[in-house]
Amino acid sequence: MNMSKQDDCLLLEKVIETVDNVIIVMDRDGLIRRFNPAAESLTGYKAEDIIDHAHWSFLVPEEQRQEVEKTFKSLTAGHFPNSMVNEWLTQDGQHVTVQWHNTAITDAHNQVQYVIATGTDISSQIQAHADLAISAKALETGEGLVITDKNGVIIRTNKVFTQVTGYSEEEAIGKTPSLLSSGKHDAKFYEAMWQGIAERGYWSGEIWNKRKNGEIYPEYLKVSAVYNDQHEVTHYVASFADISNLKNAEKKLQFFANYDLVTGLPNRSYFLKLLRTSLQQARTHHDQLIVLHVRLNRLSKLNTQLGFEVTDKLLARFVHKMDDAITIQDYLIGRTSGSDFTLAIRRHDTEGLIDFCNDIATLLLNAGEHAQIEDLEESNAILHNLDPRIGICVFDGQLPTDENVQAETLLERGLLSSFEAIDQGRQILFYSSESQQIADNSYKLEQALTHATQSMAEFELFHQPQYDQHHHITGGELLIRWKHNGSYIPPNVFIPFAEKSGLILKIGRWVLETAAQHYEQLKAQGLHRHYAQLGVNLSAKQLLAENFVDELEALLARHPDLVHHLTLEITETAFIDDIEAVKTRISHLRALGFRISIDDFGTGYASLSYLTELEFDEIKIDKTFIDMVHIVDHKSHKIAKAIIGIVKALNVSAIAEGVETQEQFDTLVGLHCKHFQGYYLSRPIPFAELLAKLHQTQQP
Ligand code: C2E
Ligand code: CA
Ligand code: CA
Repeated sequence: MNMSKQDDCLLLEKVIETVDNVIIVMDRDGLIRRFNPAAESLTGYKAEDIIDHAHWSFLVPEEQRQEVEKTFKSLTAGHFPNSMVNEWLTQDGQHVTVQWHNTAITDAHNQVQYVIATGTDISSQIQAHADLAISAKALETGEGLVITDKNGVIIRTNKVFTQVTGYSEEEAIGKTPSLLSSGKHDAKFYEAMWQGIAERGYWSGEIWNKRKNGEIYPEYLKVSAVYNDQHEVTHYVASFADISNLKNAEKKLQFFANYDLVTGLPNRSYFLKLLRTSLQQARTHHDQLIVLHVRLNRLSKLNTQLGFEVTDKLLARFVHKMDDAITIQDYLIGRTSGSDFTLAIRRHDTEGLIDFCNDIATLLLNAGEHAQIEDLEESNAILHNLDPRIGICVFDGQLPTDENVQAETLLERGLLSSFEAIDQGRQILFYSSESQQIADNSYKLEQALTHATQSMAEFELFHQPQYDQHHHITGGELLIRWKHNGSYIPPNVFIPFAEKSGLILKIGRWVLETAAQHYEQLKAQGLHRHYAQLGVNLSAKQLLAENFVDELEALLARHPDLVHHLTLEITETAFIDDIEAVKTRISHLRALGFRISIDDFGTGYASLSYLTELEFDEIKIDKTFIDMVHIVDHKSHKIAKAIIGIVKALNVSAIAEGVETQEQFDTLVGLHCKHFQGYYLSRPIPFAELLAKLHQTQQP
């Protein structure tokens, strides 16, 4: 291509007119000779207004004009800077930052004749940098930070970046973030990420990266694009947080949420989830689903005796033994509550179901009875017997009645049967619908009891008089009656519920208060001298309640002489759980002046052994020994005789309860028993009836 000089000039002219860059030409005095359209649009000045004026007289902010003029005039060709950045003032008073590329045209003597300056407006970039610098500072403490240019080349990082990745800022600058790539994500992942940034200017998510030392770690990454006024990307800012700790915690949380930490078995909610799936599969394949519920009857007692650390070990042993013993491939097992484990087995064979269940149950019993810990000093089989009781229920996929059965139902039935096994003194018990009915009724009963204890209006306190060997009344036992929907519900039925639910505390308070009122009435009628002792039953929970002594003291404040007329009956079974606490409580009560009577004597555990340790005033010989007491050869006769002898030696009194016949009465008199209670003498009667009886039989 061959162009004439004129063509050259035309072409040059065209370029100057059309380029986006600002082009100005100045002579050696700084007077403007050319001012192209880009310069016009940037500054707002027209070329004709500005040509022949020194560029500083318009375009440089006023305070800088002198300085710029001086500098410009001192410049020689050799010193004229190739590039520089300065501020211009537009016609409407805006400041713009322009980056210049300068070319000096010199004469033969190397004197500057013209300067051609090509400028780019970099104001928005400067702004972006300033913003970045600010955000970089702001984020210096918290998260890791990477700033890249629009090509993804790292231009800045912060301290946290170095702490997390192990790369210094110098090492990172000039590289792309692929420096940190872990290889754990495929190309698609990064594509999606970049697409997100392109479409929304933003992406965030979890990403696995690699530290300088090769370790792979998870981070939570946020990437935003930085735009200029033309909505072109100038930079990317990525901030991230190392979430490896969080991830571990999440994993742990997940574990905590699903598993029991002592045994490593699924917990109740997770087990139920697994059981639901299993039930579903059993339905589809017409399989049976056998649920064996193991309740460790002695676990809570062992907890108190040995401490959790030891029993936790024992439990781990138990699970291990159980696992060893069961050779079936596919079964579920979970710790469904503190003392409960549940197994679920799917089985297709319908033959020999009962034998199969019994076999498995026997293995479980074995594991629970012999889960010893070797390193425990007083290692002893009896000590470690967890006393497992097993309730079994079977979902039979064949029966149409099974259609509505839920996993929860199976679990509940297993639990129910294991409780029934305990009640019946058995080790293994199959679920029966009858027991479900009892449980349903129990639920209703508990509801009714809760309701009834709100006003206590349905309760009454009966008296069963107690007699001496001459048939004279000496006092009586106060027995609660609950008249619900027209019939009496025996205390043996509702008291255990009241104890379990805590309602016994309220009931117990009412009994004491009512006893005090009865006493005041007896006293007012002068009957308290020969009906001198009122026996009130205390439940273990009530006895050990924190404010029980305070409550009694408050009662005594209102009825001061009641203390000489109240006998507190404490059943032997109350001692089992915490004999020390009971002992302390009892001596407290005796110090206040109350009589203490040991109820149901002989039925509990270590009867004779604690007699020497306890402070008490009376023993009630349980009805089980009285029933056969008149048969001289019978064990009961010997036991009753022995108890009366011991009591005499200890200088306390004995009362025989549940005396139903004259024969029994006479035999006991012969054994030197001095006190009697039972249907032979009187049934429990309402208080009004007692008053009438006392008036009738008033002794001189
Ligand atoms: P307990 O303290 O052993 O009370 C004696 C129970 O034997 C009473 O039953 C009484 O009616 C019954 N009984 C008395 N003489 C005879 C007899 O000759 N033959 C037979 N077969 N039974 C006789 P009740 O009133 O049903 O009370 C049962 C249990 O309920 C009581 O046993 C006691 O443990 C508890 N209880 C009753 N009232 C209260 C109370 O106010 N508070 C607490 N915590 N428990 C109470
Ligand atoms: Ca009693
Ligand atoms: Ca009793």
